[in-house]
Amino acid sequence: MIVVFLGAPGSGKGTQADMLKDECGFYHFDTGSVLRGEVASGSDLGARIGGYINQGLLVPLAVIRELLLKFFRETTAERIMLDGFPRNLEQAGVLDEGLAELGDDLDYVIYLEVPRQALLDRILNRRFCSVCGEIYNLLTEPPRTPGVCDKDGGALVQRKDDTQEVFRERLDVYLEQTVPLLDYYASRGVLHAVDGTSSPEEVAQAILGVLGVEGRGTA
Ligand code: AMP
Repeated sequence: MIVVFLGAPGSGKGTQADMLKDECGFYHFDTGSVLRGEVASGSDLGARIGGYINQGLLVPLAVIRELLLKFFRETTAERIMLDGFPRNLEQAGVLDEGLAELGDDLDYVIYLEVPRQALLDRILNRRFCSVCGEIYNLLTEPPRTPGVCDKDGGALVQRKDDTQEVFRERLDVYLEQTVPLLDYYASRGVLHAVDGTSSPEEVAQAILGVLGVEGRGTA
C-alpha cells in the first residue's frame, strides 16, 4: 500500500506519518529528513541542498528524482508512506516512474487541511530532539522539562528553516507548486481531505479510518 501525505508546512505530515508508522507498520519515507541528513553529512551535494532548504526553496528535480528512484529500487517495504514528496506535478511524474518500477499503484493521498495562522503558530513553536528526532510543540505538546526530550534526554532544537521569513517562502512555494496536486489527485480518485486541526491522536484516527487499516491502538 502506498500513501502520500500532502499538506502545507506545519500541517502535521511528519507527526502523523511517524505515529502511523508505529501504528500499522508503514515505512516512513520523509524527503525533508533525508535531505537534512545529506546536509549534515557535510558532502558537496549536502552543501548545495542546504542552500535551497535554508531559503525555503525546492531542491532541484534531478536530486529528488535520483533519491526517490533509488529508494523505490531498493525498498522491500509493502506499506510505504511518502511524506514531503511529491511537491509538484513534475515530481508526481517521478512518483509514477517509481511506482512503475515497483509494479504498484498509489492507493491514497491524504491531504491535511490546516488554516494559515495555525500553520505559522505550529512552525514557530516546533522543536525536535537532536538525538531521536521526536517532534514537540512548545504550546500544545511541550516536553516535561524545557529544552529536553522526554524520550532520551536529547537537546531540543529548532529547524533553521522554521523562521517567519523562511515560512513565508515555503508557504508561497506550497501554494504555487504543491496545491495543484490536489486537483491532480482528486481527478485520479485517490485524494482524501482530513481535518488537521484536531489533536494528533484524533487526526491519526481519522487517517486510519480512510486507510481502512487496523491500528495497534497506540494512536
Ligand atoms: P519538509 O521537511 O518537508 O518541511 O522540507 C523541508 C525542505 O526540504 C523544503 O522546504 C525543501 O527545501 C526541501 N524538500 C523536502 N522535500 C522536498 C521535495 N520533495 N522536493 C524538493 N525539495 C524538498
